[in-house]
Amino acid sequence: MRITALAGGIGGARFLRGLRRARPGDDITVIGNTGDDIWVHGVRVCPDLDSIMYTLGNAISVERDWGREDETFVVKEELAAYGVEPTWFGLGDRDLATHLVRTQSLNAGFSLSEVTAALCQRWQPGVTLLPMSDDRAETHVVVDLESGRTAIHFQEWWIRYRAAIPALGFPVIGIDDATPAPGVIEAIAEADIIVLPPSNPVVSIGVILQVPGIRAALGKARAPIVGLSPLIGAAPVRGMADACLRGIGVQTSALAVAAHYGSRRDGGILDAWLLADSDDSMLADVRALGIVCQSAPLLMHDVDATAAMAHAALALVS
Ligand code: GDP
Ligand code: CA
Repeated sequence: MRITALAGGIGGARFLRGLRRARPGDDITVIGNTGDDIWVHGVRVCPDLDSIMYTLGNAISVERDWGREDETFVVKEELAAYGVEPTWFGLGDRDLATHLVRTQSLNAGFSLSEVTAALCQRWQPGVTLLPMSDDRAETHVVVDLESGRTAIHFQEWWIRYRAAIPALGFPVIGIDDATPAPGVIEAIAEADIIVLPPSNPVVSIGVILQVPGIRAALGKARAPIVGLSPLIGAAPVRGMADACLRGIGVQTSALAVAAHYGSRRDGGILDAWLLADSDDSMLADVRALGIVCQSAPLLMHDVDATAAMAHAALALVS
């Protein structure tokens, strides 16, 4: 069986660990969000690809949920001592090696897909990890600062401002000229099941969907598409997805996100939606949208619980 997943960072990575446990014999291809990518201190950082690579490679920091276990931050401190901006970006010493390898390879002319495949040689994630695109397309956030209205890089809004300044929009600069990375359209067209993990609907899944050609490929795919809610009740389980949803005028609820993705019947991307058992009062409203819907425990507190979530999601479309 070929399973294709579209994924952001933490939520995507955790879910994929459960999916891999649930479906050990299957071929899993992951289309990762690269809208979060940023040049910082001269190196190219791909936060979501790295979260997936480190999580599935058992090297993610359990305590921080991003970056490497056993990390030190000597280089970051030294850069700060020079007064070099940005000081708000967390760059660990071990993590830096990944970015140095990536940057050298990109500078030597390799594509991001090629570089990602090479990095995965070390981490053996047990899935094929594809960037959504090899082209630079970075998510920005329109905000009102004291100096006036401006667009700042998503990372600056998320990390430096903790998503506390209201977002007025999320333009992805460069997306119109981006093309899907090699293998992305094939992975969608040839999949037996397509999964949307509980990733951020706006700045993770929402950005992947904006790569020209990807949404159309999902519309035409012969595989059913099933998504899992990143929200339980009126809040994201982790992080600040509510601030992103507010920025695009979507309510923070599993029902509103399902409606935002839409039923494939009506040109949307969902055949089925799994929401949290505590949200089962929304089942009928989601079904009324033309989306198959069930509820299940959706807290990814360990790999077994996450594997059970993956089973429940796949069962909706098998
Ligand atoms: P990011 O790129 O690191 O922000 O990660 P993703 O976009 O892949 O996932 C972020 C989303 O994961 C957030 O909106 C969280 O609500 C969601 N999330 C994190 N942990 C859990 C969990 O245990 N269960 C569910 N259902 N969602 C989760
Ligand atoms: Ca991300």
